[in-house]
Amino acid sequence: MLFYVLRRGEAQRLSGPSLNRRRLLGASVFALAGCAYSPNAPQGVTPARVVVLGGGFAGATCARTIAAIAPEHRVSLIEPNRTYTACPFSNLVIAGMRDLSAQQFGYETLAAAGVDVIHARALDVDSVRRFVVLEDGQRLAYDRLIMAPGIEVRLDALPGYDAQAAGLLPHAWQAGAQTLLLARQLSAMPQGGVVALAVPQAPYRCPPGPYERASLIAAYLQQHNPTAKLLILDSKDRFSKQPLFEQAWRRHYGAMIEWRGASDGAAVVEIDAPARRLLTDFDDIRVDVANVIPPQRAGAIARRAGVADASGWCPIEPATFASRLQDHVHVIGDAAIANAMPKSAFAANAQARLCALQVVRDLSDSNSAEQPLSAKLLNTCYSFVKRDEAISVAGVYRPTPTAWQEIDGAGGFSPIDAPDAVRRAEARYAVGWFDHLTRSVFG
Ligand code: FAD
Repeated sequence: MLFYVLRRGEAQRLSGPSLNRRRLLGASVFALAGCAYSPNAPQGVTPARVVVLGGGFAGATCARTIAAIAPEHRVSLIEPNRTYTACPFSNLVIAGMRDLSAQQFGYETLAAAGVDVIHARALDVDSVRRFVVLEDGQRLAYDRLIMAPGIEVRLDALPGYDAQAAGLLPHAWQAGAQTLLLARQLSAMPQGGVVALAVPQAPYRCPPGPYERASLIAAYLQQHNPTAKLLILDSKDRFSKQPLFEQAWRRHYGAMIEWRGASDGAAVVEIDAPARRLLTDFDDIRVDVANVIPPQRAGAIARRAGVADASGWCPIEPATFASRLQDHVHVIGDAAIANAMPKSAFAANAQARLCALQVVRDLSDSNSAEQPLSAKLLNTCYSFVKRDEAISVAGVYRPTPTAWQEIDGAGGFSPIDAPDAVRRAEARYAVGWFDHLTRSVFG
């Protein structure tokens, strides 16, 4: 059982099952550093065709890692957009505190690192004959397919909220034009207006994201429209980092933010987009700006490929991210059912690196899936509560045969009574995290 990590062009031969955590992380760090490597296949390894579908945090990380640690394989990355627009920090853009251009990254470095970047949309996957069909009809054969298509914002789940409605009441849950639309609507809102933020039930991308957004919208309103109100209509009764968010709202925004939960009948059940009306079980609320975050599921191609189940998300074998529904296919990032791990860029990046290592190992030893690498993955989610203050939650996760489980006591939250200096330090850590992540994936 052999596993290869290439370090400055030199193949290091490691015994798979004994690959320890220090070496595993070393491999990951090395992989993301994008060094030069040998084009020759290590003895006994047949060069394989690895196709990665989706060039977001998960897919781009995975493609780059495989190209770095196993350059003998041909790695193709399919991504329709030439520019990736990152969601983390996009709430700052909505609040006028950051330029959208700071969220945007190209794929040139991935191409220079040996990834064959194909800018096209994948339309279909034939998982029996093992090829992906691109929008120009081209077929791309694979030995392993790694699917990382992110989410599809459901435009069929909330009555009245379809593609046209999203053009009037933006979700801004996929960064780009929607982000700018919401920012423009906020700045054009009349003084004393009401903004509504409708939050779906879990699971959805970035559990604390709506509440960070509420905080930053309130920060914007405080400065530009101080008599305005922000109403959060939540389909849940509890939310991520709730005590920390609520404390920050009381301290910084007073009565400006009102949160209503499912037990208050706040779940939005219907939308009248042209009239900007949100209907709940009890109320019919007309607002000036509505940010509707609808339910979500794995990107549409996951259903075409047969890797999504009835929940709309993709079941996987926890340790390897191998699809439970199709052979030779792995699913990572937001599209995958990773149980306790949240749908975050941090988690997508961590999953991608582990999946890359598992796939490379599997390509050199087809029995390796029976003895997957033992790894624990981390996640930290920072949330800004104002421009220069942030809070965080961290978790450590381990794969069991059935699920990714959080390790009790290994993570934690920002302290509730921390002084401002701690919140400001966390905002700086958040910036450091984003810069490091985006540089290591796209830089
Ligand atoms: P994506 O980043 O969405 O990438 C999927 C890619 O697949 C896209 O580039 C898409 O074009 C491509 N694709 C889709 N279909 C096809 C197809 N048919 N063919 C080819 N390509 C296809 N996470 C954090 O860790 N920290 C944060 O602070 C944070 N803040 C957030 C704030 C907001 C407002 C939001 C909405 C999200 C935030 N997130 C945060 C979550 C984070 O953005 C996602 O978890 C992360 O982007 C998931 O990565 P992914 O690669 O799975 O999906």
